[in-house]
Amino acid sequence: MDERTLITRYFAGRQAGRGDVVLGIGDDAAVLRLEAGWDLVVATDTIAEGTHFPAGIPARAIGHRCLAVNLSDLAAMAAEPLWCSLALSLPKAGPPWLEEFSAGLLALADRSGTALIGGDTVRGPLAATVTVQGRVRPGKAVTRSGARAGDGIWVTGNPGDAVAGRLLLDAPGQVPAAVRDTLCQRFLYPEPRLREGLALGALATAMLDVSDGLHDDIGKLMAASGTGAELDAGLLPLSAALKAAAAGRAVDYALTGGDDYELCFTAPDAVTGRLQQLAAGWDVPVTRIGTVVSEPGLRWRHQGSALVVPDTTFRHF
Ligand code: ADP
Ligand code: MG
Repeated sequence: MDERTLITRYFAGRQAGRGDVVLGIGDDAAVLRLEAGWDLVVATDTIAEGTHFPAGIPARAIGHRCLAVNLSDLAAMAAEPLWCSLALSLPKAGPPWLEEFSAGLLALADRSGTALIGGDTVRGPLAATVTVQGRVRPGKAVTRSGARAGDGIWVTGNPGDAVAGRLLLDAPGQVPAAVRDTLCQRFLYPEPRLREGLALGALATAMLDVSDGLHDDIGKLMAASGTGAELDAGLLPLSAALKAAAAGRAVDYALTGGDDYELCFTAPDAVTGRLQQLAAGWDVPVTRIGTVVSEPGLRWRHQGSALVVPDTTFRHF
């Protein structure tokens, strides 16, 4: 299959589109209409086979994931997605694989109102780079640096599920099938917390998405804010599936596992009531797990004693 056929068959003209896409896939570049009164928010992330996901996972999950991890970055800025582009490196362009990949990507794009406006397709090791553009009202992006001593530290969803799911991909029979399915889905189809991120724009003082593990990522949030944190691992919202699958290691998975794509944010006590009201309408729980303090560093406690979290975060280099 030549490149043009591949693009027109699997990627071009398959979405309802957006009015602000003046010119989409098919020319030398896309043309997008910018509206006055907004800041543009841009993020890029690559996922590569063997590094970010194991070989052999469904093509649909890879298509979903390459967009989801980028939308998660927009969510963490409290931005609304507009457009995305896709640079795809493929060892071979098999039609069933491409059909599934594009279905996974476009389903999430449609659901989130994101228009695929271009990309590039090359032969090479399996990897997908997506760039997303979104918007926020001027000055309203939520950065990592606004946490203040006394703020609560909160997390959405159930951290730890995704890493347990990744470990269970190749281990059928170790845990009940329903538990394994739930956890594997959480790894294969991370749900970007777009709606939650947008709403949190009005309440959070600092925010990021949790991709490298809660401990590591809270460390980044606190370092950027020039603060530290006191945290209680006993407050972690561990899912029933995680507890069933990992038992004694559930806390460890939640703190150091990664791939959660949940939001972690700080908010002053004064907004706790509004936050809980908002969250009552969400599909995911939001849980306070600690407090920002002025002394740098993270101090975890668990069941009354200090908990030392090992630095096991994956590093590329
Ligand atoms: P050029 O050689 O000018 O870069 P290409 O043949 O690479 O043009 O791309 C043709 C059109 O298809 C462009 O609009 C490009 O953005 C788009 N495109 C290429 N690959 C993809 C892809 N994987 N997904 C979406 N659009 C793509
Ligand atoms: Mg090109």
